Amino acid sequence: MGAGGLGCPASLYLAAAGVGRLTLADSDKVDLTNLQRQILYRAEGIGTPKVEAARSALNALNPEVEIAALQSRIDFKAAQMLVAQNDLVLDCTDNFATRHLLNRACVQHHRPLVSGAAIRFDGQVMVFDLRQPDSPCYSCLFPEDGEVEEVQCSVMGVFAPLTGIVGATQAMEALKLLAGIGESLSGKLLLLDAKKADWRTVRVKKDPACPVCATS
Ligand SMILES: [Zn+2]
Repeated sequence: MGAGGLGCPASLYLAAAGVGRLTLADSDKVDLTNLQRQILYRAEGIGTPKVEAARSALNALNPEVEIAALQSRIDFKAAQMLVAQNDLVLDCTDNFATRHLLNRACVQHHRPLVSGAAIRFDGQVMVFDLRQPDSPCYSCLFPEDGEVEEVQCSVMGVFAPLTGIVGATQAMEALKLLAGIGESLSGKLLLLDAKKADWRTVRVKKDPACPVCATS
């Protein structure tokens, strides 16, 4: 979900790895200001829907990957349908409303959710393996009614290589979850301070009072 700064590198690694079917959802068109970090796009593609430009770039890399391109905003119904149809969800969006829609759908359908965020010099990656009953959800960490200041890259800017690192880490976690390899970041929040080149991991527990996942 989201074919921007995080979705571009994440989908490149997934397609290159041979993940058989990818669904890309994004309502935007390629803009000149995207090219600094959204590495699937080229100057000649400005004005093209992102999901179309992304599909042709990914298929140029691996023609055998089946790519569904959805050029629309994700509402509740679309989130439910898309999550139910796919094995795993990467949240590469930049707004809390969509993040919470995806989280609710992943809780309901027990799908692993690999969430990434990058703004200015700060990056974070989280995995919510909602196949596990004791897994926290996105809302345990960032409640839906919480006071969050919405900051977006289009307004605040982001250090371009940071989006590559976060997106590639999301692809790494997604491939591990799909293949059942190793230990995922589930229950942990990975924080990267790019200015200090400092990585930290913070444990996240399921909130027993979480209105989204506690009763499911
Ligand atoms: Zn929760």
